[in-house]
Amino acid sequence: MITVYNPANGTVVGQAPELSLDEVKAAIDRACAAFPTWSRRLAKERGDLLRAWFDLVKTDKRIFAEIMVQENGKCLSEALGEIDYGLGFIGWYAEEAKRVYGDTIPTQATGAAVMVVKEPVGPTAAITPWNFPFMMICRKIATALAAGCTMIIKPSEETPLTAYKLLEYARRAGIPEGVFEMVTGNPKEIGELFTGDTRIRKISFTGSTAVGKLLASASGATLTKMTLELGGNAPFIVFDDAEFDEALAGIVAAKLRNSGQVCISPNRIYVQDGVYDRFVAALAERVAKLEVGDGMREDFVVGPLVNQTGFDKVAALVDDAREHGARLVLGGKQHALGGLFYEPTILADIGDDARMAQNEIFGPVFAVYRFQTEEEVVARANNTEYGLVAYAYTRALGRAFRLSRDIEAGMVILNSGSVGTASVPFGGVKQSGYGREGSYYGIEEYVEVKYVLMAGLNR
Ligand code: NAD
Repeated sequence: MITVYNPANGTVVGQAPELSLDEVKAAIDRACAAFPTWSRRLAKERGDLLRAWFDLVKTDKRIFAEIMVQENGKCLSEALGEIDYGLGFIGWYAEEAKRVYGDTIPTQATGAAVMVVKEPVGPTAAITPWNFPFMMICRKIATALAAGCTMIIKPSEETPLTAYKLLEYARRAGIPEGVFEMVTGNPKEIGELFTGDTRIRKISFTGSTAVGKLLASASGATLTKMTLELGGNAPFIVFDDAEFDEALAGIVAAKLRNSGQVCISPNRIYVQDGVYDRFVAALAERVAKLEVGDGMREDFVVGPLVNQTGFDKVAALVDDAREHGARLVLGGKQHALGGLFYEPTILADIGDDARMAQNEIFGPVFAVYRFQTEEEVVARANNTEYGLVAYAYTRALGRAFRLSRDIEAGMVILNSGSVGTASVPFGGVKQSGYGREGSYYGIEEYVEVKYVLMAGLNR
Protein backbone atom coordinates (compact mmCIF):
# COMPACT_ATOMS: atom_id res chain seq x y z
CA MET A 1 0.00 0.00 0.00
CA ILE A 2 1.00 3.63 -0.49
CA THR A 3 0.76 5.63 2.73
CA VAL A 4 -0.50 9.21 2.45
CA TYR A 5 0.68 11.81 4.97
CA ASN A 6 -0.82 15.15 5.99
CA PRO A 7 1.75 17.83 5.08
CA ALA A 8 0.43 20.07 7.88
CA ASN A 9 1.38 17.69 10.69
CA GLY A 10 2.93 14.50 9.28
CA THR A 11 0.12 12.23 10.46
CA VAL A 12 -1.10 9.34 8.32
CA VAL A 13 -4.26 10.25 6.37
CA GLY A 14 -4.86 6.96 4.62
CA GLN A 15 -3.59 4.42 2.15
CA ALA A 16 -3.96 3.66 -1.54
CA PRO A 17 -3.14 0.44 -3.38
CA GLU A 18 0.31 -0.06 -4.84
CA LEU A 19 -0.76 -2.11 -7.84
CA SER A 20 1.43 -4.70 -9.52
CA LEU A 21 2.14 -4.27 -13.21
CA ASP A 22 -0.20 -7.18 -13.96
CA GLU A 23 -3.00 -5.33 -12.19
CA VAL A 24 -2.25 -2.18 -14.19
CA LYS A 25 -2.26 -4.24 -17.40
CA ALA A 26 -5.63 -5.66 -16.40
CA ALA A 27 -6.98 -2.10 -16.01
CA ILE A 28 -5.69 -1.24 -19.50
CA ASP A 29 -7.37 -4.39 -20.85
CA ARG A 30 -10.66 -3.36 -19.24
CA ALA A 31 -10.43 0.15 -20.73
CA CYS A 32 -9.78 -1.34 -24.18
CA ALA A 33 -12.62 -3.86 -23.84
CA ALA A 34 -15.07 -1.14 -22.77
CA PHE A 35 -14.23 1.24 -25.63
CA PRO A 36 -16.41 -0.19 -28.45
CA THR A 37 -19.56 -0.11 -26.33
CA TRP A 38 -18.87 3.25 -24.68
CA SER A 39 -17.96 5.01 -27.93
CA ARG A 40 -21.20 3.84 -29.55
CA ARG A 41 -23.47 4.99 -26.76
CA LEU A 42 -25.48 8.08 -27.57
CA ALA A 43 -23.69 11.31 -26.76
CA LYS A 44 -26.67 12.26 -24.65
CA GLU A 45 -26.34 9.07 -22.58
CA ARG A 46 -22.67 9.75 -21.95
CA GLY A 47 -23.53 13.33 -21.02
CA ASP A 48 -26.28 12.16 -18.67
CA LEU A 49 -23.87 9.87 -16.82
CA LEU A 50 -21.38 12.71 -16.42
CA ARG A 51 -24.19 14.90 -15.12
CA ALA A 52 -25.27 12.23 -12.61
CA TRP A 53 -21.68 12.05 -11.36
CA PHE A 54 -21.56 15.86 -11.11
CA ASP A 55 -24.73 15.90 -8.99
CA LEU A 56 -23.54 13.19 -6.58
CA VAL A 57 -20.16 14.85 -5.99
CA LYS A 58 -21.73 18.28 -5.60
CA THR A 59 -23.95 17.02 -2.79
CA ASP A 60 -20.89 15.73 -0.91
CA LYS A 61 -18.48 18.58 -1.67
CA ARG A 62 -17.44 18.86 1.93
CA ILE A 63 -16.27 15.22 2.08
CA PHE A 64 -14.02 15.77 -0.93
CA ALA A 65 -12.75 19.10 0.41
CA GLU A 66 -11.73 17.63 3.76
CA ILE A 67 -9.81 14.81 2.10
CA MET A 68 -8.00 17.35 -0.04
CA VAL A 69 -7.06 19.55 2.90
CA GLN A 70 -5.56 16.54 4.64
CA GLU A 71 -3.60 15.03 1.79
CA ASN A 72 -2.57 18.23 0.01
CA GLY A 73 -2.43 20.92 2.72
CA LYS A 74 -4.55 23.54 0.92
CA CYS A 75 -7.11 25.30 3.08
CA LEU A 76 -10.78 24.37 3.10
CA SER A 77 -12.00 27.43 1.18
CA GLU A 78 -9.48 26.73 -1.57
CA ALA A 79 -10.42 23.04 -1.64
CA LEU A 80 -14.10 23.94 -2.02
CA GLY A 81 -13.16 26.41 -4.77
CA GLU A 82 -11.19 23.69 -6.54
CA ILE A 83 -14.22 21.40 -6.41
CA ASP A 84 -16.39 24.04 -8.11
CA TYR A 85 -13.67 24.53 -10.70
CA GLY A 86 -13.36 20.77 -11.33
CA LEU A 87 -17.10 20.16 -11.40
CA GLY A 88 -17.30 22.96 -13.95
CA PHE A 89 -15.46 20.68 -16.41
CA ILE A 90 -17.80 17.76 -15.77
CA GLY A 91 -20.83 20.01 -16.30
CA TRP A 92 -19.36 21.65 -19.38
CA TYR A 93 -18.39 18.40 -21.10
CA ALA A 94 -21.64 16.67 -20.14
CA GLU A 95 -23.18 19.25 -22.49
CA GLU A 96 -20.35 19.38 -25.01
CA ALA A 97 -20.66 15.62 -25.72
CA LYS A 98 -23.69 16.46 -27.89
CA ARG A 99 -21.81 19.08 -29.91
CA VAL A 100 -19.00 17.11 -31.49
CA TYR A 101 -20.02 18.25 -34.96
CA GLY A 102 -18.47 17.23 -38.25
CA ASP A 103 -18.63 18.87 -41.69
CA THR A 104 -19.80 18.28 -45.19
CA ILE A 105 -17.55 19.50 -47.99
CA PRO A 106 -18.65 20.35 -51.54
CA THR A 107 -17.91 17.26 -53.58
CA GLN A 108 -15.00 17.02 -56.04
CA ALA A 109 -16.86 14.60 -58.36
CA THR A 110 -20.40 14.23 -59.65
CA GLY A 111 -22.46 11.59 -57.94
CA ALA A 112 -20.35 11.79 -54.79
CA ALA A 113 -20.62 13.23 -51.31
CA VAL A 114 -17.94 14.16 -48.82
CA MET A 115 -18.39 13.96 -45.07
CA VAL A 116 -15.98 14.74 -42.30
CA VAL A 117 -16.81 12.95 -39.07
CA LYS A 118 -15.16 13.17 -35.69
CA GLU A 119 -14.58 9.89 -33.89
CA PRO A 120 -13.18 9.25 -30.43
CA VAL A 121 -9.46 8.48 -30.60
CA GLY A 122 -9.82 5.27 -28.58
CA PRO A 123 -8.80 4.15 -25.09
CA THR A 124 -6.76 6.89 -23.40
CA ALA A 125 -4.63 7.36 -20.30
CA ALA A 126 -3.81 10.30 -18.06
CA ILE A 127 -1.23 11.11 -15.39
CA THR A 128 -2.00 13.91 -12.94
CA PRO A 129 -0.06 15.91 -10.31
CA TRP A 130 -0.72 16.52 -6.61
CA ASN A 131 -1.34 20.26 -6.62
CA PHE A 132 -4.96 20.09 -7.86
CA PRO A 133 -5.91 16.51 -6.95
CA PHE A 134 -9.59 16.96 -7.82
CA MET A 135 -9.73 19.40 -10.72
CA MET A 136 -6.96 17.81 -12.78
CA ILE A 137 -8.81 14.50 -12.88
CA CYS A 138 -12.15 16.11 -13.76
CA ARG A 139 -10.61 18.17 -16.55
CA LYS A 140 -9.15 15.12 -18.26
CA ILE A 141 -11.73 12.41 -17.69
CA ALA A 142 -14.79 14.56 -18.44
CA THR A 143 -13.36 15.50 -21.83
CA ALA A 144 -12.34 11.95 -22.69
CA LEU A 145 -15.65 10.39 -21.69
CA ALA A 146 -17.69 13.07 -23.45
CA ALA A 147 -15.79 12.43 -26.68
CA GLY A 148 -16.49 8.68 -26.39
CA CYS A 149 -13.06 7.59 -25.17
CA THR A 150 -12.37 5.42 -22.16
CA MET A 151 -9.63 6.50 -19.74
CA ILE A 152 -7.23 5.07 -17.17
CA ILE A 153 -5.96 7.66 -14.70
CA LYS A 154 -2.81 7.50 -12.66
CA PRO A 155 -3.08 10.22 -10.03
CA SER A 156 -0.13 11.44 -8.01
CA GLU A 157 0.89 9.06 -5.24
CA GLU A 158 0.97 12.13 -2.93
CA THR A 159 -2.80 12.65 -3.33
CA PRO A 160 -4.50 9.39 -4.36
CA LEU A 161 -7.34 9.56 -1.82
CA THR A 162 -9.25 12.35 -3.58
CA ALA A 163 -8.78 10.42 -6.81
CA TYR A 164 -10.18 7.13 -5.51
CA LYS A 165 -13.09 9.00 -3.92
CA LEU A 166 -13.91 10.46 -7.34
CA LEU A 167 -13.82 6.96 -8.82
CA GLU A 168 -16.15 5.67 -6.10
CA TYR A 169 -18.68 8.40 -6.92
CA ALA A 170 -18.33 7.77 -10.65
CA ARG A 171 -19.29 4.14 -10.10
CA ARG A 172 -22.23 5.19 -7.94
CA ALA A 173 -23.37 7.47 -10.78
CA GLY A 174 -23.29 4.50 -13.17
CA ILE A 175 -20.03 5.15 -15.04
CA PRO A 176 -18.96 1.56 -15.68
CA GLU A 177 -15.78 -0.34 -15.02
CA GLY A 178 -13.43 -0.03 -17.97
CA VAL A 179 -14.79 3.35 -18.99
CA PHE A 180 -13.01 5.02 -16.06
CA GLU A 181 -10.13 3.10 -14.43
CA MET A 182 -7.74 4.26 -11.74
CA VAL A 183 -4.25 2.89 -11.07
CA THR A 184 -1.55 3.78 -8.52
CA GLY A 185 1.86 2.26 -8.02
CA ASN A 186 5.29 2.81 -9.50
CA PRO A 187 4.92 5.95 -11.67
CA LYS A 188 7.82 5.19 -14.00
CA GLU A 189 6.69 1.63 -14.72
CA ILE A 190 3.06 2.64 -15.16
CA GLY A 191 4.16 5.42 -17.52
CA GLU A 192 6.11 2.86 -19.55
CA LEU A 193 3.06 0.60 -19.76
CA PHE A 194 0.94 3.52 -21.00
CA THR A 195 3.42 4.76 -23.60
CA GLY A 196 4.37 1.25 -24.79
CA ASP A 197 0.86 -0.03 -25.45
CA THR A 198 -0.31 0.78 -28.98
CA ARG A 199 -3.91 0.23 -27.92
CA ILE A 200 -3.72 3.43 -25.84
CA ARG A 201 -4.22 6.12 -28.46
CA LYS A 202 -3.73 9.21 -26.39
CA ILE A 203 -2.03 10.24 -23.15
CA SER A 204 -2.76 13.46 -21.29
CA PHE A 205 -0.09 14.44 -18.80
CA THR A 206 0.08 17.29 -16.32
CA GLY A 207 3.24 17.62 -14.31
CA SER A 208 6.86 18.65 -14.59
CA THR A 209 8.56 19.38 -17.90
CA ALA A 210 11.20 16.72 -17.16
CA VAL A 211 8.65 13.90 -16.80
CA GLY A 212 6.59 15.27 -19.72
CA LYS A 213 9.63 14.98 -21.98
CA LEU A 214 10.28 11.40 -20.88
CA LEU A 215 6.70 10.44 -21.73
CA ALA A 216 6.70 12.35 -25.01
CA SER A 217 9.90 10.70 -26.10
CA ALA A 218 8.63 7.21 -25.17
CA SER A 219 5.39 7.94 -27.01
CA GLY A 220 7.40 8.59 -30.16
CA ALA A 221 7.92 4.83 -30.51
CA THR A 222 4.18 4.13 -30.50
CA LEU A 223 3.05 7.43 -32.11
CA THR A 224 0.68 7.99 -29.22
CA LYS A 225 -1.00 11.41 -29.26
CA MET A 226 -0.09 13.60 -26.29
CA THR A 227 -1.40 16.56 -24.40
CA LEU A 228 1.30 18.01 -22.18
CA GLU A 229 0.53 20.57 -19.47
CA LEU A 230 3.95 21.23 -17.99
CA GLY A 231 5.85 23.71 -15.88
CA GLY A 232 5.60 27.49 -16.02
CA ASN A 233 7.50 30.67 -15.17
CA ALA A 234 4.72 33.23 -15.30
CA PRO A 235 5.56 36.93 -15.48
CA PHE A 236 3.18 39.31 -13.69
CA ILE A 237 3.72 42.86 -14.97
CA VAL A 238 2.49 45.99 -13.19
CA PHE A 239 2.78 49.20 -15.22
CA ASP A 240 2.80 52.70 -13.70
CA ASP A 241 -0.70 53.30 -15.08
CA ALA A 242 -2.22 50.14 -13.55
CA GLU A 243 -5.18 50.23 -11.17
CA PHE A 244 -2.93 49.98 -8.13
CA ASP A 245 -5.28 48.28 -5.69
CA GLU A 246 -6.56 45.82 -8.27
CA ALA A 247 -3.03 44.83 -9.22
CA LEU A 248 -2.21 44.35 -5.55
CA ALA A 249 -5.26 42.19 -4.90
CA GLY A 250 -4.54 40.26 -8.12
CA ILE A 251 -0.98 39.38 -7.21
CA VAL A 252 -1.78 38.31 -3.65
CA ALA A 253 -4.61 36.01 -4.77
CA ALA A 254 -2.71 34.56 -7.72
CA LYS A 255 0.53 34.04 -5.82
CA LEU A 256 -0.78 32.46 -2.63
CA ARG A 257 -3.26 30.08 -4.20
CA ASN A 258 -2.22 26.62 -3.01
CA SER A 259 0.71 28.27 -1.19
CA GLY A 260 2.24 29.16 -4.54
CA GLN A 261 2.35 25.53 -5.70
CA VAL A 262 0.61 26.18 -9.00
CA CYS A 263 1.94 26.01 -12.55
CA ILE A 264 0.32 29.38 -13.32
CA SER A 265 1.57 31.03 -10.12
CA PRO A 266 3.24 34.39 -10.85
CA ASN A 267 6.91 33.51 -10.65
CA ARG A 268 8.42 36.86 -11.68
CA ILE A 269 6.67 40.06 -10.63
CA TYR A 270 7.86 43.00 -12.76
CA VAL A 271 6.88 46.40 -11.36
CA GLN A 272 7.56 49.61 -13.26
CA ASP A 273 9.89 52.14 -11.68
CA GLY A 274 7.24 54.83 -11.02
CA VAL A 275 5.15 52.65 -8.68
CA TYR A 276 7.81 50.18 -7.60
CA ASP A 277 8.57 51.34 -4.05
CA ARG A 278 4.93 52.03 -3.23
CA PHE A 279 3.88 48.64 -4.60
CA VAL A 280 6.47 46.68 -2.64
CA ALA A 281 5.55 48.52 0.58
CA ALA A 282 1.82 47.95 0.09
CA LEU A 283 2.42 44.29 -0.77
CA ALA A 284 4.45 43.82 2.42
CA GLU A 285 1.74 45.43 4.52
CA ARG A 286 -0.93 43.16 3.06
CA VAL A 287 1.02 39.89 3.09
CA ALA A 288 2.26 40.43 6.66
CA LYS A 289 -1.35 40.27 7.85
CA LEU A 290 -2.04 36.83 6.34
CA GLU A 291 -2.26 33.82 8.56
CA VAL A 292 -0.30 30.60 8.08
CA GLY A 293 -1.58 27.29 9.38
CA ASP A 294 -3.45 24.02 9.03
CA GLY A 295 -6.13 24.47 6.38
CA MET A 296 -8.98 22.72 8.18
CA ARG A 297 -10.90 25.93 8.89
CA GLU A 298 -13.26 28.20 7.03
CA ASP A 299 -11.17 31.33 6.43
CA PHE A 300 -8.17 31.63 4.14
CA VAL A 301 -4.78 30.54 5.47
CA VAL A 302 -1.49 29.93 3.76
CA GLY A 303 -0.89 26.19 4.07
CA PRO A 304 2.26 24.05 4.23
CA LEU A 305 4.34 22.95 1.26
CA VAL A 306 3.51 19.49 0.02
CA ASN A 307 6.69 17.65 1.03
CA GLN A 308 10.29 18.09 2.16
CA THR A 309 11.65 18.18 -1.40
CA GLY A 310 9.34 21.08 -2.23
CA PHE A 311 10.27 22.87 0.98
CA ASP A 312 14.01 22.49 0.39
CA LYS A 313 13.67 23.75 -3.18
CA VAL A 314 11.90 26.94 -2.05
CA ALA A 315 14.42 27.58 0.72
CA ALA A 316 17.35 27.07 -1.66
CA LEU A 317 15.92 29.44 -4.28
CA VAL A 318 15.35 32.16 -1.67
CA ASP A 319 18.89 31.77 -0.32
CA ASP A 320 20.31 31.88 -3.83
CA ALA A 321 18.40 35.09 -4.70
CA ARG A 322 19.70 36.77 -1.55
CA GLU A 323 23.25 35.69 -2.38
CA HIS A 324 22.70 37.34 -5.77
CA GLY A 325 21.79 40.66 -4.13
CA ALA A 326 18.00 40.44 -3.64
CA ARG A 327 16.59 42.49 -0.75
CA LEU A 328 14.54 40.54 1.80
CA VAL A 329 11.37 42.50 2.58
CA LEU A 330 9.36 39.83 4.43
CA GLY A 331 9.72 36.22 5.58
CA GLY A 332 12.59 34.25 4.12
CA LYS A 333 12.67 31.19 6.36
CA GLN A 334 10.72 28.31 7.86
CA HIS A 335 7.59 29.51 9.67
CA ALA A 336 7.40 29.31 13.47
CA LEU A 337 4.92 26.43 13.07
CA GLY A 338 7.87 24.36 11.82
CA GLY A 339 7.54 21.30 9.60
CA LEU A 340 6.67 22.12 6.01
CA PHE A 341 5.38 25.64 6.72
CA TYR A 342 7.37 28.36 4.96
CA GLU A 343 6.82 32.04 5.73
CA PRO A 344 5.10 34.11 3.05
CA THR A 345 8.14 35.86 1.63
CA ILE A 346 8.79 39.00 -0.39
CA LEU A 347 12.08 39.54 -2.18
CA ALA A 348 12.69 42.84 -3.99
CA ASP A 349 15.34 44.12 -6.42
CA ILE A 350 16.05 40.65 -7.74
CA GLY A 351 18.60 40.36 -10.52
CA ASP A 352 17.89 38.32 -13.64
CA ASP A 353 20.86 36.13 -12.70
CA ALA A 354 19.08 34.70 -9.63
CA ARG A 355 18.08 31.05 -10.16
CA MET A 356 14.42 31.84 -9.42
CA ALA A 357 14.31 34.01 -12.55
CA GLN A 358 14.47 30.80 -14.59
CA ASN A 359 13.00 28.18 -12.21
CA GLU A 360 9.53 27.59 -10.83
CA ILE A 361 9.58 28.58 -7.16
CA PHE A 362 6.46 26.57 -6.21
CA GLY A 363 6.11 28.27 -2.84
CA PRO A 364 4.71 31.42 -1.17
CA VAL A 365 7.47 33.70 -2.44
CA PHE A 366 6.82 37.05 -4.13
CA ALA A 367 9.83 37.70 -6.34
CA VAL A 368 9.79 41.38 -7.39
CA TYR A 369 11.89 42.80 -10.22
CA ARG A 370 12.15 46.47 -11.27
CA PHE A 371 11.70 47.58 -14.90
CA GLN A 372 11.66 50.83 -16.87
CA THR A 373 10.06 50.38 -20.32
CA GLU A 374 7.48 48.21 -22.04
CA GLU A 375 9.97 47.01 -24.61
CA GLU A 376 12.41 45.98 -21.89
CA VAL A 377 9.81 44.12 -19.83
CA VAL A 378 8.41 42.21 -22.80
CA ALA A 379 11.92 41.01 -23.66
CA ARG A 380 12.54 39.98 -20.05
CA ALA A 381 9.14 38.31 -19.73
CA ASN A 382 9.90 36.24 -22.83
CA ASN A 383 13.39 35.38 -21.62
CA THR A 384 12.37 31.97 -20.30
CA GLU A 385 12.09 28.50 -21.75
CA TYR A 386 8.50 28.33 -20.48
CA GLY A 387 5.35 29.83 -22.01
CA LEU A 388 2.28 28.93 -19.99
CA VAL A 389 0.69 32.17 -18.81
CA ALA A 390 1.52 35.86 -18.44
CA TYR A 391 -0.34 38.51 -16.44
CA ALA A 392 -0.21 42.28 -16.89
CA TYR A 393 -1.97 45.26 -15.36
CA THR A 394 -2.29 48.41 -17.48
CA ARG A 395 -5.05 50.85 -18.42
CA ALA A 396 -3.55 51.68 -21.83
CA LEU A 397 -5.53 49.93 -24.53
CA GLY A 398 -2.79 49.93 -27.15
CA ARG A 399 -0.28 48.52 -24.69
CA ALA A 400 -2.71 45.82 -23.55
CA PHE A 401 -3.13 44.74 -27.17
CA ARG A 402 0.62 44.77 -27.84
CA LEU A 403 1.23 42.63 -24.76
CA SER A 404 -1.40 40.10 -25.82
CA ARG A 405 0.38 39.84 -29.17
CA ASP A 406 4.03 40.00 -28.12
CA ILE A 407 4.18 37.80 -25.05
CA GLU A 408 5.05 34.19 -25.77
CA ALA A 409 2.51 32.25 -23.72
CA GLY A 410 -0.52 30.06 -24.24
CA MET A 411 -2.55 32.40 -22.04
CA VAL A 412 -2.32 36.18 -21.50
CA ILE A 413 -4.38 37.59 -18.64
CA LEU A 414 -4.84 41.36 -18.58
CA ASN A 415 -6.03 43.23 -15.48
CA SER A 416 -6.92 40.04 -13.61
CA GLY A 417 -5.13 37.43 -11.53
CA SER A 418 -7.58 34.67 -12.32
CA VAL A 419 -7.13 32.26 -15.22
CA GLY A 420 -9.04 29.02 -15.21
CA THR A 421 -12.60 28.00 -15.92
CA ALA A 422 -14.10 25.20 -18.00
CA SER A 423 -15.06 27.39 -20.96
CA VAL A 424 -11.55 28.56 -21.94
CA PRO A 425 -8.61 26.74 -23.56
CA PHE A 426 -5.91 26.13 -20.94
CA GLY A 427 -2.39 25.27 -22.05
CA GLY A 428 1.08 26.47 -22.90
CA VAL A 429 3.74 26.90 -25.56
CA LYS A 430 7.52 26.35 -25.57
CA GLN A 431 8.65 24.06 -22.72
CA SER A 432 5.25 24.41 -21.02
CA GLY A 433 3.90 21.79 -23.39
CA TYR A 434 1.29 21.48 -26.08
CA GLY A 435 -2.41 20.76 -26.45
CA ARG A 436 -5.31 22.50 -24.72
CA GLU A 437 -7.76 21.48 -22.02
CA GLY A 438 -11.17 23.02 -21.44
CA SER A 439 -13.60 24.62 -23.89
CA TYR A 440 -14.46 23.44 -27.39
CA TYR A 441 -10.72 23.16 -28.12
CA GLY A 442 -10.22 20.61 -25.34
CA ILE A 443 -12.53 17.99 -26.82
CA GLU A 444 -10.80 18.28 -30.21
CA GLU A 445 -7.78 16.62 -28.58
CA TYR A 446 -9.83 13.44 -28.04
CA VAL A 447 -11.24 13.02 -31.53
CA GLU A 448 -9.83 11.97 -34.88
CA VAL A 449 -11.04 13.57 -38.06
CA LYS A 450 -12.25 10.98 -40.57
CA TYR A 451 -12.83 11.92 -44.21
CA VAL A 452 -15.52 9.82 -45.91
CA LEU A 453 -16.04 9.90 -49.68
CA MET A 454 -19.22 8.28 -50.93
CA ALA A 455 -19.14 7.96 -54.72
CA GLY A 456 -21.47 6.24 -57.15
CA LEU A 457 -24.52 7.97 -55.71
CA ASN A 458 -26.10 8.61 -59.14
CA ARG A 459 -26.61 4.91 -59.81
P1 NAD B 1 5.81 15.38 -11.51
O1 NAD B 1 6.15 15.51 -12.96
O2 NAD B 1 6.86 14.96 -10.57
O3 NAD B 1 4.61 14.36 -11.31
C1 NAD B 1 3.42 14.46 -12.05
C2 NAD B 1 2.86 13.08 -12.21
O4 NAD B 1 3.78 12.29 -12.97
C3 NAD B 1 2.63 12.32 -10.90
O5 NAD B 1 1.45 11.55 -11.01
C4 NAD B 1 3.84 11.41 -10.83
O6 NAD B 1 3.60 10.24 -10.08
C5 NAD B 1 4.05 11.08 -12.28
N1 NAD B 1 5.42 10.65 -12.63
C6 NAD B 1 6.57 10.97 -12.01
N2 NAD B 1 7.61 10.39 -12.66
C7 NAD B 1 7.10 9.69 -13.70
C8 NAD B 1 7.65 8.89 -14.74
N3 NAD B 1 8.96 8.69 -14.85
N4 NAD B 1 6.81 8.35 -15.64
C9 NAD B 1 5.48 8.55 -15.55
N5 NAD B 1 4.89 9.30 -14.59
C10 NAD B 1 5.70 9.87 -13.69
O7 NAD B 1 5.18 16.78 -11.10
P2 NAD B 1 4.53 17.17 -9.70
O8 NAD B 1 5.65 17.47 -8.76
O9 NAD B 1 3.50 16.21 -9.27
O10 NAD B 1 3.77 18.51 -10.10
C11 NAD B 1 4.41 19.73 -10.20
C12 NAD B 1 4.74 20.07 -11.62
O11 NAD B 1 3.56 20.00 -12.42
C13 NAD B 1 5.20 21.49 -11.76
O12 NAD B 1 6.27 21.56 -12.68
C14 NAD B 1 4.00 22.22 -12.30
O13 NAD B 1 4.28 23.40 -13.00
C15 NAD B 1 3.40 21.19 -13.18
N6 NAD B 1 1.99 21.50 -13.39
C16 NAD B 1 1.60 21.92 -14.62
C17 NAD B 1 0.28 22.26 -14.83
C18 NAD B 1 -0.19 22.72 -16.18
O14 NAD B 1 -1.41 22.66 -16.42
N7 NAD B 1 0.66 23.17 -17.06
C19 NAD B 1 -0.63 22.16 -13.80
C20 NAD B 1 -0.20 21.73 -12.55
C21 NAD B 1 1.13 21.38 -12.37
